Amino acid sequence: MSLEKSKSGLEIKPRGHFATLDAMVLWKKGYKLGRTLGQGSYAKVKSAYSACLKTHVAVKILNQKKTPTDILEKFLPRELNILPIVHHPNIVKTFDIFETVFGKVYMIMELCVQGDLMDYIMVHGALAEDFSRDLFCQLSLAIKYLHDQDIVHRDLKCENLLLDKDLNLKVSDFGFSRRCAYEEDEIQLSKTFCGTRAYEAPEVLEGIPYNPKLGDVWNMGVVLFIMVCGCMPYDDSNIKKMVQMQRARRADFPKTKHLAPDCKDLICRMLNPDVARRIEVDDILDHAWLQRGARNTSV
Ligand code: ADP
Ligand code: MG
Repeated sequence: MSLEKSKSGLEIKPRGHFATLDAMVLWKKGYKLGRTLGQGSYAKVKSAYSACLKTHVAVKILNQKKTPTDILEKFLPRELNILPIVHHPNIVKTFDIFETVFGKVYMIMELCVQGDLMDYIMVHGALAEDFSRDLFCQLSLAIKYLHDQDIVHRDLKCENLLLDKDLNLKVSDFGFSRRCAYEEDEIQLSKTFCGTRAYEAPEVLEGIPYNPKLGDVWNMGVVLFIMVCGCMPYDDSNIKKMVQMQRARRADFPKTKHLAPDCKDLICRMLNPDVARRIEVDDILDHAWLQRGARNTSV
């Protein structure tokens, strides 16, 4: 399946007067608004210059008046609670969060100048195996950090993995994240079927209550597949057929692409439809393919 993504771009430079209300609000807080970096389902993300931090930042702007109630009442509070407490070199830093009387929320974040991983792969094609290993190792370390604190992301996908100037990977967009609850030492299963369907595990697509940590692992399998193959593992135009392919363990590996057997093995362990046997993040970090990396001595 080929890759696709919709993009928007708009230059806003306030000169003399403010081109938008956002520009004015941010100016008062010491930020000079720049260009649009991305547009999600409900939020837009723009670059800005922070006079206080003396650096460029990214601002995620959410208009609460245009956002559905369930997102505002359930998901946004979780995102706003989790963002300030996650500190890891491979998770986007949050510098500040504020809300205005006009009903807008502004999240000031570290700017990742190389954009998101989907854009990168769409421009450069499939990544070399060593580069994929390097990026995937960083992703695994960030997810281990989150899972060790019982935080799940639940929307891991290439559009939510950002690249800084040195091409380091930063996990972003905690819009569907949550803390895991436990009942008698057993993780409480999620019943909220959120995320992005091309990246979702079969149990999520089928509406079966799911272990959210293992849901993240399936997402990671799809991400690694896209990194090394440059295409999607499943055709998501027909969900029933997609689930059949997932359950039959028939990811669409390109015939012409040579993949190291241990790389393919790791992908298949993450894309395991049998939840009880799906690999967990600690074992991902111990897997032979990741351990093979010269730069991954800290794994
Ligand atoms: P949504 O919750 O609406 O999906 P995201 O937080 O994922 O919003 O942001 C949408 C897009 O904006 C991302 O896919 C990415 O392309 C861009 N973006 C988001 N944050 C940053 C950032 N810190 N640096 C650079 N680009 C970003
Ligand atoms: Mg997003």
